[in-house]
Formats: sequence, C-alpha cells, structure tokens
Amino acid sequence: MTVDPSTATADDNATVECPYCGSTDTEREHPKGPSLCRSMHFCADCQQPFERFH
Ligand SMILES: [Zn+2]
Repeated sequence: MTVDPSTATADDNATVECPYCGSTDTEREHPKGPSLCRSMHFCADCQQPFERFH
C-alpha cells in the first residue's frame, strides 16, 4: 500500500511528547469544533490533557 505524501500527515502517527512531564505515553483525542489546526492529546502518565498546534 502506497501513501500519497501530499495527503499523509506525518503528525498523525507520530509520537507526541507530553509538554508537562515529557512522557510519550500519550493518546490523541478527536478534535472538537472547527479548529483543525490543532489536536487534543491526553497524557496517560500525568493525566493531563494538552493541545498540540500544527
Ligand atoms: Zn505528562
């Protein structure tokens, strides 16, 4: 299966580091609202939600 690089977003499967504790044990949550330039994540380590801007 080939992936079109023009539509694939590298961030989607990238590991996101928690800005609070630096853990990479984070989950991406589905974005809410019209703002698609940022995504919500949740750190399983320190139980903190955080946003990541693209
Ligand atoms: Zn954390």
